[in-house]
Amino acid sequence: MYSLRCIECGKKVDESSYTCECGGLLEVIFDLNAVEVDFRLDGKDMHVWKYRALLPVSIEPITLKEGGTPLYKAKKLSEVVKAEVYIKHEGLNPSGSFKDRGMTVGITKALELNKKAVACASTGNTSASMAMYAAKAGIDAYVLLPAGKVALGKVAQALMHGAKVIGIKGNFDDALRIVREVCEIADIYLLNSVNPFRLEGQKTIAYEIADELGVPDRVVVPVGNAGNISAIYKGFHELYKLEMIDRIPKMVGIQAEGAAPIYKAFLQKKNNIEPVENPETIATAIRIGNPVSAKKALRAIYDSKGLAEVVSDAEIIEAQKFLAAKEGIGVEPASAASVAGLIKLAKNGMIERGEKVVCVTTGNLLKDPETVLKVCGSPVVVGASVEEVLKLVRR
Ligand SMILES: [Zn+2]
Repeated sequence: MYSLRCIECGKKVDESSYTCECGGLLEVIFDLNAVEVDFRLDGKDMHVWKYRALLPVSIEPITLKEGGTPLYKAKKLSEVVKAEVYIKHEGLNPSGSFKDRGMTVGITKALELNKKAVACASTGNTSASMAMYAAKAGIDAYVLLPAGKVALGKVAQALMHGAKVIGIKGNFDDALRIVREVCEIADIYLLNSVNPFRLEGQKTIAYEIADELGVPDRVVVPVGNAGNISAIYKGFHELYKLEMIDRIPKMVGIQAEGAAPIYKAFLQKKNNIEPVENPETIATAIRIGNPVSAKKALRAIYDSKGLAEVVSDAEIIEAQKFLAAKEGIGVEPASAASVAGLIKLAKNGMIERGEKVVCVTTGNLLKDPETVLKVCGSPVVVGASVEEVLKLVRR
């Protein structure tokens, strides 16, 4: 029903590989003529495994009821950018980020392949999600993090769910390079987004958007390691090939200024990136200089006639505050990059009046409490009396 193919040379590769001999990334290709699609895009009962017919596993899934996240119509944001804007809030998945969609598939695949342990390098959300699903599956989990550079909520999750958490004195890119080698040597299943099965779970974001809303004109996604934008594009592309939708939205990738190799490649119309040596941004989840899925992401952007844009840390924080205070949607900084990007594009006249846009917000506000305290300050403290409190109340 499906096979694993190299995106560079097209060679078929067996399921236990992460990359092709030629070094190319792999992707799962479904024989869409042979797939029996048993779900309808009717907006009902949405969750990752509703779309099982298009997910590449053969055993009962390890699931924590991921997916089915809310799609909010963002009224105030729509007024600001003069478009019809929706927020797909992935921060409301079980571990608080979109990673759960990929992890339910990835961990299930690990069991299918009889692996006893899983590992990942992470800026935080992947580790939290992997630890949670490994706990559910009853297998060991190893997490490599850039020491001191991961938001507190995410480290707390990985620790409490029982993963072995290892801080690396280096950045995410270092951690990824090391974990890839360790997995090879120690026969551990690698669950970074280089793992093509994880992206299969993440493509269900596209299925759910199409399921609930139909096809928007544009989907805006924060881009770090670049797996998610690739996965979402793949999801729309499959529905299009299956003739379940009649067009594919423009894919828009937003990066942080200090970690923007894909944006730079896009400007130069290149198909691959030059890595950024020391990526830096307040949005730690997308603080990545050498994104693994860069080629897939650029392909998604070009094929869908989309684009890439960058935003500053200040723009990210402003968008995070706007979403929280004006729309009631609490997201972590990296998530707000999509909204900051949309606002910037609208200012620059890049968004058509009234077009239908979905911004994906990837992680929950609670993931990164330290940044909140930095940008909002601490609560005001007063004496325990009605008078003291009344001084602070607008009357
Ligand atoms: Zn190849």
